[in-house]
Amino acid sequence: MATHEIRDLSIIGAGPAGLFALFYAGMRGATAQILDALPQPGGQLAALYPEKLIFDVAGYPRVLAKDLVQSLTQQAGQFGQPIHLGQRVVGLEEADGVFTLVTETDRFPSRAVIIAAGIGAFSPRRLPQACAEPWYGKGIHDVVLEPKQFAGQHVTIIGGGDSAFDWAHQLEGVSRSITLVHRSDRFRAHQATVDAVMASAAAGRSAVHTFHELADVIAEDGRIAAIELKDIKAKTTKRIPCDVVLPMLGFVSDMGALLTWGLQVEKDEIHVTQTMETGRPGIWACGDVNTYPGKLKLIATGFAEACVAVNQAVHWVYPDKKVNPGHSSNLAVFGQKDD
Ligand SMILES: Cc1cc2nc3c(=O)[nH]c(=O)nc-3n(C[C@H](O)[C@H](O)[C@H](O)COP(=O)(O)OP(=O)(O)OC[C@H]3O[C@@H](n4cnc5c(N)ncnc54)[C@H](O)[C@@H]3O)c2cc1C
Repeated sequence: MATHEIRDLSIIGAGPAGLFALFYAGMRGATAQILDALPQPGGQLAALYPEKLIFDVAGYPRVLAKDLVQSLTQQAGQFGQPIHLGQRVVGLEEADGVFTLVTETDRFPSRAVIIAAGIGAFSPRRLPQACAEPWYGKGIHDVVLEPKQFAGQHVTIIGGGDSAFDWAHQLEGVSRSITLVHRSDRFRAHQATVDAVMASAAAGRSAVHTFHELADVIAEDGRIAAIELKDIKAKTTKRIPCDVVLPMLGFVSDMGALLTWGLQVEKDEIHVTQTMETGRPGIWACGDVNTYPGKLKLIATGFAEACVAVNQAVHWVYPDKKVNPGHSSNLAVFGQKDD
């Protein structure tokens, strides 16, 4: 198991709160690192809604979620602090004033910990059909990072929620064909998007199959060539051309080990004080993972909480450093006049 060099702060989670915490730690002159279970930074923004517009982040009249992640990652990266992706934290050890976060493969020691774990380490819900499993990553994709990769292809989307309808709508005109498949005729998506997709299907520009599910994957030359759909009411099957299947079945999230660390946890949320303290000295929590009276689960709130948590943690590690950071517009670390 690889053991990394000790840092002042370890931050669990590369969502907006964790990314801003990493930036802030660098600004305060602390060494820091992020650990995230996902293969990409951005938390819910990257995993759940990269193509959605966000309107309530200060300073941005509107911003695509994936573009906000890019800006946050760029801002966080300017001090050269590492973001370790694909590292799910499964354990915490504490000895001689050092916390060690343990993942399946590595150990990350630090002097303080900031938990910015959002709704937990989450992963897309997988298709239950065994025939789908071998094709994950080879024609079945549960995360869409770049819509253009599906240009000119027959795309089948499985699901009845916002992501399924958003992608059905957005891939129209990009893909060669769009087929939306759902097990019922009840949808959990924004009505305007449902209406748009249904209008497109009525006009023959796409297809919607309700009360259907995946029955089989037909391969040719090592790639998906078609799929079979089963009508779950009539018990009949039909074959449609298909290059790509996008299961949009939601996510399963798991707080896992974090709940066993002696923190005050209720309904998967960590109770914190107004200084983001968790009750366990040396550990702070910010963003969606924490709760307190008046808590708002918003990106903007997470940013402010990250500032509070980092300033407290920096003061804990270096008592001579003040809690109050001063103004970034004056700081020498940015080449400004430090006064
Ligand atoms: C569809 C949708 C639309 C939204 N729209 C808006 C909006 O318009 N405006 C707004 O302000 N908010 C919006 N939100 C809410 C916003 O996305 C969240 O408030 C925000 O993502 C919280 O950020 P975070 O950094 O606290 O947590 P998250 O974004 O959840 O990130 C947490 C990260 O921690 C990682 N993690 C968790 N546990 C572990 C572990 N054990 N080991 C390693 N890594 C771990 C996860 O993998 C994840 O990457 C929306 C949410 C959704 C789902």
